[in-house]
Amino acid sequence: RRKKDIKERDEFATRLKAKDESRVRKVAMPAGSGAAEAAKRLKIMETDMREKLVPKLRVESRRKYLEKRKDDKVAELEADIIDDEYLFEEEILTDQEKRERLHKKQLLQLAKEHEKARELERVQRYHMPLEKGKVEPEQDVQENEPPQSEQSKWESDQMSSAVFRFGAKDRKAQQDYDLLLEDEVEFVQALRMPGSMKDRKREESPPPQVKALQTIQETKKSLPIYPFRNDLIQAINDHQVVLIIEGETGSGKTTQIPQYLYEAGFAEDNKIIGCTQPRRVAAMSVAARVAHEMAVKLGNEVGYAIRFEDCTSHRTRIKYMTDGTLHREFLSEPDLASYSVMIIDEAHERTLHTDILFGLVKDITRFRSDLKLLISSATLDATKFSEFFDDAPIFRIPGRRFPVDIYYTKAPEADYIDACVVSILQIHATQPHGDILVFLTGQDEIETCQEMLQERVRRLGSKLGELLILPVYANLPSDMQAKIFQPTPAGARKVVLATNIAETSLTIDNIVYVIDPGFAKQNNFNSRTGMESLMVVPISKASANQRAGRAGRVAPGKCFRLYTAWAYQHELEDNTVPEIQRINLGNAVLTLKALGINDLVHFDFLDPPPHETLVLALEQLYALGALNHRGELTKMGRRMAEFPLDPMMAKMLLASEQYRCSEEVATIAAMLSVNGAIFYRPKDKIIHADTARKNFHVPGGDHLTLLNVYNQWQQSDFSTHWCYENFIQHRSMKRARDVREQLVGLMQRVEMELVSGISETVNIRKAITAGYFYHVARLSKGGHYKTAKHNQTVSIHPNSSLFQELPRWLLYHELVFTTKEFMRQVTEIESKWLLEVAPHYYKPKE
Ligand code: ADP
Ligand code: MG
Repeated sequence: RRKKDIKERDEFATRLKAKDESRVRKVAMPAGSGAAEAAKRLKIMETDMREKLVPKLRVESRRKYLEKRKDDKVAELEADIIDDEYLFEEEILTDQEKRERLHKKQLLQLAKEHEKARELERVQRYHMPLEKGKVEPEQDVQENEPPQSEQSKWESDQMSSAVFRFGAKDRKAQQDYDLLLEDEVEFVQALRMPGSMKDRKREESPPPQVKALQTIQETKKSLPIYPFRNDLIQAINDHQVVLIIEGETGSGKTTQIPQYLYEAGFAEDNKIIGCTQPRRVAAMSVAARVAHEMAVKLGNEVGYAIRFEDCTSHRTRIKYMTDGTLHREFLSEPDLASYSVMIIDEAHERTLHTDILFGLVKDITRFRSDLKLLISSATLDATKFSEFFDDAPIFRIPGRRFPVDIYYTKAPEADYIDACVVSILQIHATQPHGDILVFLTGQDEIETCQEMLQERVRRLGSKLGELLILPVYANLPSDMQAKIFQPTPAGARKVVLATNIAETSLTIDNIVYVIDPGFAKQNNFNSRTGMESLMVVPISKASANQRAGRAGRVAPGKCFRLYTAWAYQHELEDNTVPEIQRINLGNAVLTLKALGINDLVHFDFLDPPPHETLVLALEQLYALGALNHRGELTKMGRRMAEFPLDPMMAKMLLASEQYRCSEEVATIAAMLSVNGAIFYRPKDKIIHADTARKNFHVPGGDHLTLLNVYNQWQQSDFSTHWCYENFIQHRSMKRARDVREQLVGLMQRVEMELVSGISETVNIRKAITAGYFYHVARLSKGGHYKTAKHNQTVSIHPNSSLFQELPRWLLYHELVFTTKEFMRQVTEIESKWLLEVAPHYYKPKE
């Protein structure tokens, strides 16, 4: 009998453990008299509390409530058993009844344990933020250490002096290797970034080919986010705003959450599940992936919208878009009525648009109680976000990462592109299988690196295994983007040359080696001089750690930093400064004004922009005629806001009507939007390419040259062959044509007259000046260019058609800082035009 009892109990226990919480309640309270009643009461109490109290309860009390709820339930059960006992005391219990009671007690014990375990789990995954001032509890030891602790670890650890030398161990192989690679970069290992996964041997990880064979469903289920699916949906049902935080990227937030929501019915009644991305490539590529996973055509149920490109239809239920696109959608739909859920993804990137969206969506949730808002971020600074969103709950998804060994160079590298090429080959020649990810700053660098690498690989011939070189950057056409996700064929190695986009937005599977030169391209604005320029700057420690983390997704990895450990410690900031605090706000202010938000000083910013920057933006908009002297939007400003363009460019377009050259200026604006990617310059045909380029030059400058290129292409009937012969990138031209079409559509919408046919270029240049009078420089006596207002020294970019001409006055499209401040796309102007187009800004000399 005892045996039978025990057996029964064990069976019960196993079954119970396997069931979820709600089941526990059902199984745990079947027999007793008061139990069912108690369960019912408990249920009513819970719903009652949830409906009546929860919305009003603040964080602390909410947590207490959760605890209490747990206690209550157990207490009820306990009371129940005592009740029973009381009753049974009087009577003589049959053996059967005794057994039942025993069973019940055991069940209670189990229920308690179960409850406790679940509660613990819940606290770990999904925890409430603490009160202000309190420190976040130590995170789960399993989770990755935040950057600060890495730092202190670095300080306490004696830096190991082991020099990492690539190369084979045996002599013969070493000699071969030395012959193969004439130079190499010496690395020093400084520390190991711990992972959450056991440090298992590389061999145990599935080789890439095996992964490729997994079905979509299997892949989806293998993602770290998958076990949290139901909890996540529950949290979203329970709360209007939820923060999703995770240490490691690539766990499936971006691709899976919208699908979970779709499956849970959030897209019913023709509502849309929206998800923003800071980068166009990410929006496009993720949408393509999700469409593939759901087996639908991209643009149907799953679509994306980016500037100048809308790939959605009335059927679209899941929509990925850039943050800038959503920002603009507010203009046509201020309450986002078509959406049931909005996910602001990659919040940690803190782009200007994302930062402004925070304020806008927060405001909307106040009057649209049916709109769910998810903020998803890779940052660990969750409390700040939570506080901003009225103490929204934080849902944590534990990351999954293998340890990553970090190597630094022994000495600074003078030429990091060259160092990248050398390091790639070193890895390829000496390291076991696994793909390589290299972080570069932009298309130009990527192309240079790609060419150098191809050249070296060619020279090495068949001595090395196959190396697939794949670039990723913003202007990359989508068919090329898809390539980076294709599994690497057996025996080959993939090397992905990427911009910052691969830091968190895109996850490429099977990366085991990361090469990080430590730079990124950044737009910076000097509010003192009003000058904005694009420059390559050192990344932050947080970025460096994100990059390193990319090496540990599938197996223990290695990250090679092309800077010294000292540089990491002393030259890198902890975090990247949010864009809102470092770039020109003209565009953002214009959109906000167009949304009717007049009081920008009191706008709900997560981090407010510097006061001077705000004032400067207002001044600029005033000078452009977009605002009146009271800071209100003018008719001109309203029309400018219709264009998804920088205010200067919008003004240039609108001014073209008055100068009777709107067709030409639309072309120029479109060509400037694909800037940098028009002319093609293959290494083996540089002279031909440069001659071809010179043939397009026309008097007046680069803007007119761009116009000339477009017009000739048009005359060739948009021929691909013509592009090929003239070293012009056909894809960029096609994009320019698309952009132009969109701009013309918008021009018609604001009732602009489309006119052209001016043989005189003065009018075109005047129209450009009407927008870009801020960007004016004049030749000084010393033969240098100085900006008109602040006397900053700037130079004409060697690519420009005016490089050797040195006109007295000119305007530039943008500044790029490399070795010095270069003006890119310059046009000759006359100083008297400035008085004509910008009388508020330029006054005649007394
Ligand atoms: P997170 O947003 O959490 O960083 P994602 O949802 O972007 O993660 O990625 C989840 C998984 O989907 C990754 O393994 C990634 O490699 C894969 N994935 C994402 N985009 C694509 C794509 N375009 N093609 C193939 N796989 C992709
Ligand atoms: Mg993501």
